[in-house]
Amino acid sequence: MTIRYDNRVAIVTGAGAGLGREHAKLLASRGAKVVVNDPGGAVDGRGSANAVADKVVEEIKAAGGEAVANYDSVADEKSAANIVKTAMDTWGRLDILVANAGVLRDKAFVNMSMEDFEFVMKVHLMGTVYCTKAAWPIFRERQYGRVIVTTSGSGTVGNFGQSNYGAAKMALNGFINCLRFEGAKYNIMLNALSPSAKTRMTENLLPPGVAEYMRPELVSPVVAYMASEECKVSGYILAGTAGTFARVQYFMTEGVAFDPDKPVTIEMIQENFEKITDLKTATPSVGLMGNIERQLRELGKIK
Ligand code: NAD
Repeated sequence: MTIRYDNRVAIVTGAGAGLGREHAKLLASRGAKVVVNDPGGAVDGRGSANAVADKVVEEIKAAGGEAVANYDSVADEKSAANIVKTAMDTWGRLDILVANAGVLRDKAFVNMSMEDFEFVMKVHLMGTVYCTKAAWPIFRERQYGRVIVTTSGSGTVGNFGQSNYGAAKMALNGFINCLRFEGAKYNIMLNALSPSAKTRMTENLLPPGVAEYMRPELVSPVVAYMASEECKVSGYILAGTAGTFARVQYFMTEGVAFDPDKPVTIEMIQENFEKITDLKTATPSVGLMGNIERQLRELGKIK
């Protein structure tokens, strides 16, 4: 069955370039009306240029789609709300939010100013939060919403010089992990994309020979799937690069259970450290509470 978005209205933040541009074009090519949001600054978020969003709108329209430009920054509560307002003023509804806008201010932590740390948190984390907050009552009222946030391997795996970026990207996973419970009964699904693609953000970092396959348009189909009615999962992290897709999940080891009626010493942790951290026993994490009843039963503490 062909997946389409007729009558659906989508916002794609940071849609003037790179991944966001491809997400917006793909959704529009399948019938979605798209707010192409982008203030058009440099990779570090400095400067602005309306032409960046305008050009993508022109491309969508030239291909027969519907789109409107918005130049507001996601990094401020009022201007983020204005992105949502653009959708409502133009088409009177909103169904999909692709929170893709991003910046980089990489530096070793010792040299990183708190201004650069906070700015990156503001764009990635708070920018997503502000847009979701403005969209939330609309989604709830319509009993429908699809939110896709953009996380990164820098959060889940780590990367030198990106403590600000990694912190912000990882926080987004926590954000959707909790909010999915509040969205569930309103058919609001929140999922995350963990992409790798050759864009201006990464073009100098990718190994030659590989980079040419990492075209952003090869990532967008998984975003479009998560933005569709067909997507029935929430809280998933889906990785996509060069046409390869996979799920990222947290795991927890079986661990070691000590008798909770007796003291636990630091040395007991040291002596059992290998067993506590042995990934061979790991299963998808349901949190420590998921393990605790089983372990207390094994210890004969509860029935
Ligand atoms: P990009 O620089 O090509 O695109 C990012 C876009 O976001 C730009 O057009 C920029 O103008 C816009 N933007 C920046 N600040 C904004 C703000 N305050 N409000 C609205 N828009 C703003 O980079 P990209 O690689 O396409 O990145 C897209 C997203 O994917 C980002 O969130 C990035 O962190 C994430 N990401 C990318 C990769 C990758 O390999 N390219 C890997 C992991 C995560």
